[in-house]
Amino acid sequence: MTNAGVAGEPAWRSLLAHIRPHRRVVVLAGVLGLVGGVAGLVEPLAAKMVVDALGRDESLWRPLALLTAVVLSGATIAAFSAYLLERTAESVVLAARRRLIGRLLRLRMGAVDRAKPGDLMSRVTSDTTLLQTVAGHGIVDGLNGAFILVASVVLMGVMDVVLLAATLAVLVVIGVSLLWVMPRIARANERAQTAIGEMGAVLERSLGALRTVKASGAEVRESEEAGGAAQEAWTHGVERARWEAISGVTAWLAVQIAFLVVLGVGGARVASGAMEVSSLIAFLLYLFYLTLPISQVVQAATAWQSGLAAVRRMREVELMPTEPVSDGKPVAAPTGEAASVSFRNVHFRYAEDLGEVLRDVSFEVPGAGMTALVGPSGAGKTTLFSLLERFYECDGGVVAVDGRDVRDWPLPELRAVMGYVEQDAPIMAGTLRDNLRYAAPAATDEEILEVLARTRLAGLLERLPDGLDTRVGHRGTTLSGGQRQRVAIARALLRRPRLLLLDEATSQLDAANELALREAVEDIARTTTVMVIAHRLSTVTSADRIVVLDAGRVRAVGTHAELLEADELYRDLAATQFIVS
Ligand code: ADP
Ligand code: MG
Repeated sequence: MTNAGVAGEPAWRSLLAHIRPHRRVVVLAGVLGLVGGVAGLVEPLAAKMVVDALGRDESLWRPLALLTAVVLSGATIAAFSAYLLERTAESVVLAARRRLIGRLLRLRMGAVDRAKPGDLMSRVTSDTTLLQTVAGHGIVDGLNGAFILVASVVLMGVMDVVLLAATLAVLVVIGVSLLWVMPRIARANERAQTAIGEMGAVLERSLGALRTVKASGAEVRESEEAGGAAQEAWTHGVERARWEAISGVTAWLAVQIAFLVVLGVGGARVASGAMEVSSLIAFLLYLFYLTLPISQVVQAATAWQSGLAAVRRMREVELMPTEPVSDGKPVAAPTGEAASVSFRNVHFRYAEDLGEVLRDVSFEVPGAGMTALVGPSGAGKTTLFSLLERFYECDGGVVAVDGRDVRDWPLPELRAVMGYVEQDAPIMAGTLRDNLRYAAPAATDEEILEVLARTRLAGLLERLPDGLDTRVGHRGTTLSGGQRQRVAIARALLRRPRLLLLDEATSQLDAANELALREAVEDIARTTTVMVIAHRLSTVTSADRIVVLDAGRVRAVGTHAELLEADELYRDLAATQFIVS
């Protein structure tokens, strides 16, 4: 693909890079546009032939046929050229969107943490549309306009050099003032787009937590904030309109002033006999003829400024760090033994300016069986899982799976080893089957039924009206917390992981659900390495090994009985039956 995202490259180069793949079509459309225009010029001549034929009493058939052919073919060619241009513009937008979408989903978690999803989204949906005008009529009209402008100026020079000098002087003054206006248009555009991004960010945030917004009575505040961003976009849009109006009228004035100057200077030259009246008239006609190409060039320059603003914002996404690319092929289901995990002297912070979240963490998980991670809220338990999945990379020490540093694994292979059940395991929109097959699209119905049995969900399946084809909704509202967690486990298991990472839900489960969950996990731990962030005493009592974390450090490792004996924090936690988050 093009290199539209190289750091330090001027924005106009990036903009051209978006259009470059379509240059042949753009040139073709431009040439066709010119041909269509020329057909328009031929029309009067053809009309003259018709009239002449009338005068000579000849048959009208041939000149009329010629006139019709010219009109029809001119119109067809012009329409085709316009279509080609619009189509190209759409293709430029499509390519830009696909690139951005591809990048967004591969962004590193650290970059996403610092960005606003709604703003990122607006760059794909809104900013890309600004490329349309530039890539379509903008560039061709601009080039055609410039061509006609230069050609007319040459012809005017042939007619009278002195008048041309007077004309050019006026045009240059105006041109310089336009150069001053153009960057202001670009800036207004960029600010308007930034405000639209902000609006998207606020909306995304409040729609994502709409229940809380409503329950907190925060609708007015949230809409004020989003509305404020919309207002900001309006302000800068109006500002742009003002500069555009100024540039438009400046271009128009340029021609008018040049006309007056030429009339004065030319009149004097005609009076002194240095020039013929007919030359002066021709010159003035050319001058008027310039109005159209000049306004075309100005409009193209304005569109170009919008394009530049869009490209700058899109490039911010292109420069965000992404994970290494995979070829998109599903990685073969890893088979084999339970994986081993080791953390050796791991240090980690989420960002340079944040404190250390993990300090010198070391522990080993040799193979199959259940390892429980316990500790107060914020101790760093979920962070350990994130490092295993390599959502983030540690700043010191080594995180290894099967004895191999996670940084040395090809990312898709590493993640195929693991099944990850998040604390608030999301249910994706779609049917139960879609949800279960999310991490293993090739899984058969037999395999699905098998994992449903393992996760004690067979009963649920019987109660659902359409079985596996039941829609379980955007956020799985039809499933209870315990069922949701077990659906997430079933989803992870269908991947046939050698390591299951389970961030236990903190919500209280009823006794039946809790038992079902515990049985399922113990069953899985017989053949698979299971690491569970435990929030319930009942989960840890059967664990082979418990790692107690506190404020980013490993306090103690042992069995339930050993730790009750040896570790004070663990004793305290156990006394409250856990249920810390
Ligand atoms: P636990 O799962 O043990 O409750 P976490 O691993 O989620 O704890 O978090 C450990 C610490 O890291 C907390 O202080 C938390 O505020 C911080 N933290 C967690 N996620 C992020 C993040 N994405 N960016 C910055 N800080 C984070
Ligand atoms: Mg957590």
